[in-house]
Amino acid sequence: MPHLPEQRSETVFEDFKPPFDDQQAAIEANRCLYCHDAPCQHACPTHIDIAGFIRKIATGNVRGAARTILDSNILGMSCARVCPVEVLCAGECVHNVQDVPPIAIGKLQRYATDQALAGGWQFHEAGAPSGKKVALVGGGPASLACAHRLRRYGHAVTIFESRERLGGLNTNGVAPYKLRADAALAEVDYVLAIGGIEVRTGVSVGKDVSWAELERDYAAIFIGVGLGADSVMKIPGAQHAGIHGAVAFIESFKTGSVDLSRVQHAVVVGGGNTAVDCVRELIGLGVPSVQMVYRGEEAGMSGYAHEWDEAKIEGAQPVWRAVPVAFEGTNQVTAVRCAALDANKKPTGTEFTLPAELVLLAIGQARLGDLVGALPGIQLDNGRVVVDEHGATGRPGYFAGGDCANGGKEVVNAVAEGTAAAHAIHQKIEGVTHG
Ligand SMILES: Cc1cc2nc3c(=O)[nH]c(=O)nc-3n(C[C@H](O)[C@H](O)[C@H](O)COP(=O)(O)OP(=O)(O)OC[C@H]3O[C@@H](n4cnc5c(N)ncnc54)[C@H](O)[C@@H]3O)c2cc1C
Repeated sequence: MPHLPEQRSETVFEDFKPPFDDQQAAIEANRCLYCHDAPCQHACPTHIDIAGFIRKIATGNVRGAARTILDSNILGMSCARVCPVEVLCAGECVHNVQDVPPIAIGKLQRYATDQALAGGWQFHEAGAPSGKKVALVGGGPASLACAHRLRRYGHAVTIFESRERLGGLNTNGVAPYKLRADAALAEVDYVLAIGGIEVRTGVSVGKDVSWAELERDYAAIFIGVGLGADSVMKIPGAQHAGIHGAVAFIESFKTGSVDLSRVQHAVVVGGGNTAVDCVRELIGLGVPSVQMVYRGEEAGMSGYAHEWDEAKIEGAQPVWRAVPVAFEGTNQVTAVRCAALDANKKPTGTEFTLPAELVLLAIGQARLGDLVGALPGIQLDNGRVVVDEHGATGRPGYFAGGDCANGGKEVVNAVAEGTAAAHAIHQKIEGVTHG
């Protein structure tokens, strides 16, 4: 994998949630009630024994804590930073019902897993060789988790990744104030350190390698291709320079440099988590005015409220109930013409313009269903690959997980689904029947 350039625009960002030192971690860990049947553990898609690892931190056993986390979730380091804990584990902490701040589970998880990665603490070994080979398509969190678990079972694995680097959106998409690309790649190295994971980057399955070749050479295939390109707006001026898909733009400044010195005004279109991330990222990159145009109102945003609250503190300017109808300018965008909408999202007849030298479209990503839709037996639901509770598709030997199967959730869901699929693949290729 090629090294990341030293000069990357993402390096201006500080950690939004700075790490605990030893004393802070000990104090926080000792606040935990170590609930039996802990609700935080149920809320975690990877079901980490949260009370167990926090108790270990409280008793000074950081290595044991890291092991507990990584046993359930091999991407525990990135999840510690990027998980929306407010709506998952910490959101279920019993302290909430007593009006006491919930345990900072993410920061405690980070405390243990950062040390595991820095110290190279490896807790898992590859299993005895099974003689079976599995292909994983896509090199994001879903495939990485699946590959690691398959190695624990002793299967040979090959990850095919169309980009030059592994990590998927952890490397290319997640906001850098949560996780920088270099930290994501350090975690990839940690996962690969189990040994025996063959990596073929720059190889696009369906183009450079056919599904038939994979079927010929591998006992099973895991599809973890995530979502596709950013959706576009087919309105006048859409071809102007300065208009970008949000995820593509984030990738450009996470893994390289962008020059925004001439951008005084930016407009982000959308109201989901990617839109909110973009607003905060542009403010962090020094754009003086960042407006977010959303067709609904604040209460209807799909972006997390806790993230949006931070964006407002940082200076986000929302424009509610509006939709772009044209991008103005000659070759370069200079403004966004918007139609005002009523409470039913119907145009009111009023239009207005917002100055913008940069526009980011955060209105969704395409589904990659076409990639596999032609394979008999594989069913698609609105572009998502349909799987059963074990991650199996309708085509024998094919499994799927992560965004391409769940339609776009969180990193921790991709890890959980990749891990579950590994169990199912193992049982399938070893001929174990479900009891
Ligand atoms: C802007 C943004 C911010 C996000 N922020 C957060 C966050 O803060 N917290 C959080 O938990 N989640 C966040 N998410 C969601 C999270 O990143 C995803 O849920 C997660 O990365 C999904 O993992 P995956 O492995 O399914 O897919 P991906 O991470 O998308 O990885 C799929 C990989 O497959 C590769 N690929 C695609 N097609 C092929 C092919 N034909 N052949 C070979 N390789 C292929 C792609 O290049 C990619 O590397 C964010 C998502 C976005 C878009």
